[in-house]
Amino acid sequence: MAKQAVQLSKKKRTKYRFQKLKMCKKCNRYSVLKDKICPTCGTNLVGIESLVKSILKKRLTTEAIRILIVVCLGIVFAPTIKTMYYSLIAGIIFCISYVALTSLFMKSEYFHQMKKLLRADFRKIQAGIQYDSDLAKADVKEERLAAAYEKLREIGDFISTDRLKVRRVMVLNDIALRSDMELELEGLIPSSYDKDFVKYALEVLKINRMLITKKCIAYFIHYRDAIVIDFGMDSLVSVAGTALRMKLYILEFSTFIEEFLDYFPKERVLRLCSIIHANPEVEWGGLKEKTMRVVAKKYHYDPDFKSFTIERERVISHV
Ligand SMILES: [Zn+2]
Repeated sequence: MAKQAVQLSKKKRTKYRFQKLKMCKKCNRYSVLKDKICPTCGTNLVGIESLVKSILKKRLTTEAIRILIVVCLGIVFAPTIKTMYYSLIAGIIFCISYVALTSLFMKSEYFHQMKKLLRADFRKIQAGIQYDSDLAKADVKEERLAAAYEKLREIGDFISTDRLKVRRVMVLNDIALRSDMELELEGLIPSSYDKDFVKYALEVLKINRMLITKKCIAYFIHYRDAIVIDFGMDSLVSVAGTALRMKLYILEFSTFIEEFLDYFPKERVLRLCSIIHANPEVEWGGLKEKTMRVVAKKYHYDPDFKSFTIERERVISHV
C-alpha cells in the first residue's frame, strides 16, 4: 500500500492531562478527543473544568442558602430585640467569614472537587476512552489515517500501553512522514522488541535526527540482534551516526560508535573528529584512537581532515 500524504494538526497542550477530558451531558459519556461536538448526538461537549466549576458553584449556592435560612430563623424566632440584633450580627459575621474562607480556599477546593469527580467517574472515563479508541479504529478501517492518528495521540496522553503505542506506530508507518510534522518517538518506545516501531524510528531518523534520543539509541543497542536480522547492519550504522549529535551521547555510547566507525560516511567522521578535537580535556578512551586510525587510513589526503592529520603527525614525530 502506498503511503498516504496527510496533514497532521498540532497537538493541543494543557498544563494537566485531565484538562483534556470533556463530557457529553446528554449521552453521559466522557471523551479525550479534540472534537467539540459529541459524534453520537451532536450536543456540545462540556470541558471537565467547566463541569467542576458548575458543581462547585451549585454546592456553594446551596451552602449559602442554608446559612441564610439559619440566620433568618434566628432573627424570626429571637425572643427579644436584643437577641434579634445578636442573631443578625452573628449572621453577618458568619456570612463574611464564609465568603472570605471560601475565596481563600477556592483553588484547593476546586482541585479537591476535581479529584472527587475523577475518582467517582473513573469507570465512565475508561468507557469513554474505549469509545474514542473504537472511533480511531473505524478511521483506520476507512483509511482516514490523519484523523485516526490524531485520536490515538490524544488517547496516548491517558494510556501508555504497548498495544496503543504499536497501534500509533502502525498508523504512522502508513503515512508519508515529513519534517514539518510534529512527530514523536521517545513516547512510543515499547517495552519489548517491535518491528513496526523500529521501522518507524528508522524513518524518523531520516527526517529528524533530533528525535533520536538517548532512550531510543539504548533501545537499538538492546535489540540490535533482532534489528540486524530485520533491517540490516546499515540501520545500526545510522543510529550510531546519530549518537554523534551530542558530546554527552558520544561518551555514553562510545563503544557502540567505535564498533561502526569504519562504516560511517565522511561527514559523520568529520563531525566526530571536530568534537574530539574541540574537547581535548575529555577522556575519550579507545574512541579517539580509533577515530584517528580511521582518518589516517581513509582520509589521509583529504584537505577537510588536514588539521587533524597534521596534529597526529606532530604527535607521532614527537614520540
Ligand atoms: Zn452525546
